[in-house]
Amino acid sequence: MTKPTEVLILGGGIIGLACAWEAARRGFRTTVVEAGEFGGQASGAAAGLLAPYSENPESPDPFFQLCAESHSLYPAWVRELEELTGRSAELRHSGSLNVAFHEADFLSLRARLEWQSKYGAGFELLDAAELRRLEPALSERALGALYCSDESHVHAPQLVGVLEEACRRSGVRLVAHAGNVTLLKRAAGEGVIVESSFAGRWQADRVVVCTGAWSGFVQEWLPVHVPVHPIRGQICAYDVQGGHIRHMVFSSQAYWVGKNDGSLVCGASEDMAGFDRSVTEQGIGRLTRWSGSVYPFLQDKRPSRSWAGLRPATLDGWPLIGCIPEAPELIMAVGHYRNGILLSPATATLVGDLLQGKSGKFGNAFGIERFSPAGKRRGVG
Ligand SMILES: Cc1cc2nc3c(=O)[nH]c(=O)nc-3n(C[C@H](O)[C@H](O)[C@H](O)COP(=O)(O)OP(=O)(O)OC[C@H]3O[C@@H](n4cnc5c(N)ncnc54)[C@H](O)[C@@H]3O)c2cc1C
Repeated sequence: MTKPTEVLILGGGIIGLACAWEAARRGFRTTVVEAGEFGGQASGAAAGLLAPYSENPESPDPFFQLCAESHSLYPAWVRELEELTGRSAELRHSGSLNVAFHEADFLSLRARLEWQSKYGAGFELLDAAELRRLEPALSERALGALYCSDESHVHAPQLVGVLEEACRRSGVRLVAHAGNVTLLKRAAGEGVIVESSFAGRWQADRVVVCTGAWSGFVQEWLPVHVPVHPIRGQICAYDVQGGHIRHMVFSSQAYWVGKNDGSLVCGASEDMAGFDRSVTEQGIGRLTRWSGSVYPFLQDKRPSRSWAGLRPATLDGWPLIGCIPEAPELIMAVGHYRNGILLSPATATLVGDLLQGKSGKFGNAFGIERFSPAGKRRGVG
């Protein structure tokens, strides 16, 4: 295949925008076609946690390595975006606390401490008194915590806005409200033609599919099965002006993160509700009960806001990033599930490498082949 020059990105969530910015920086003429609004789906709903350690309690598998790599790229990536746009993504290196409420919780925290200390700095097992010195608003029921100084967070909707602006300033053509998008034709060496209901037709040498939870529909016009489905996340925020919470706090049932605007975000449910994005009394009720029990000052308080988004999940929870062997002009970057904000810089780098014909450092660990009968791993798929 000759060097592609026209790259079409389908989907303008954080993954599509991050890939578009990277493609433009590598010299490709790039267009993003978004069915609705940029960042209008999962990316705009996210809490913005960048937590490679807390999200990977089990083992240093390739998914953990990808998360850790992406986290290490974040400071320079955000700095470049902010310098280019003059806008802030509110990256905060707050550190995190995984809190134990039962003696048994310490078993898994100690196991994590043992293997994760080899990969990151600043882990410490805290007793109740040490924990309360760091986070005085926590309930007295908290027995201790695993402290990790190396986790951070961003304001996800603001980061999406910064990326959109960076794309614009880097010459990326941005098409929103395109409606339903269909692949009309693809022919080896001739590229791909894509048509949308409301915004016209495009021809490209390469198409990068970044359609989040809707990627299962895209398979109608792809030569492969795309095993991605939506998992609803319900989430809420309290108005706690005065900064009660200093760190990201995780319990076995929920997490809490304080934002610069004085809100304390508490997330998130994991429900199977198809493509329904509404919030339910049951979903938010569970979060508010936990909030009151973990933070006594929230006991009689109602969240000031609640919302929901659809996480794009694959069958094994790992993202799907790679070329489609049967259609090399198509690249997939979907299925980022709970960690799409964290994984944006690493995904963009992998996609940039694929566009330039390089294989990237993770080989095909995240490729679609793993879902074929021959490639099945970990007994799933
Ligand atoms: C409540 C909640 C909290 C979360 N918290 C975190 C967190 O703290 N940290 C973290 O790292 N991750 C978090 N996530 C996960 C993260 O939000 C997702 O993994 C990430 O946003 C996925 O990005 P995306 O661009 O693939 O998907 P999306 O943001 O959903 O974007 C996909 C886009 O594709 C568009 N689209 C669909 N079909 C088509 C088509 N045919 N043509 C053109 N466009 C199309 C859609 O309109 C959409 O805008 C959270 C998710 C939720 C729901």
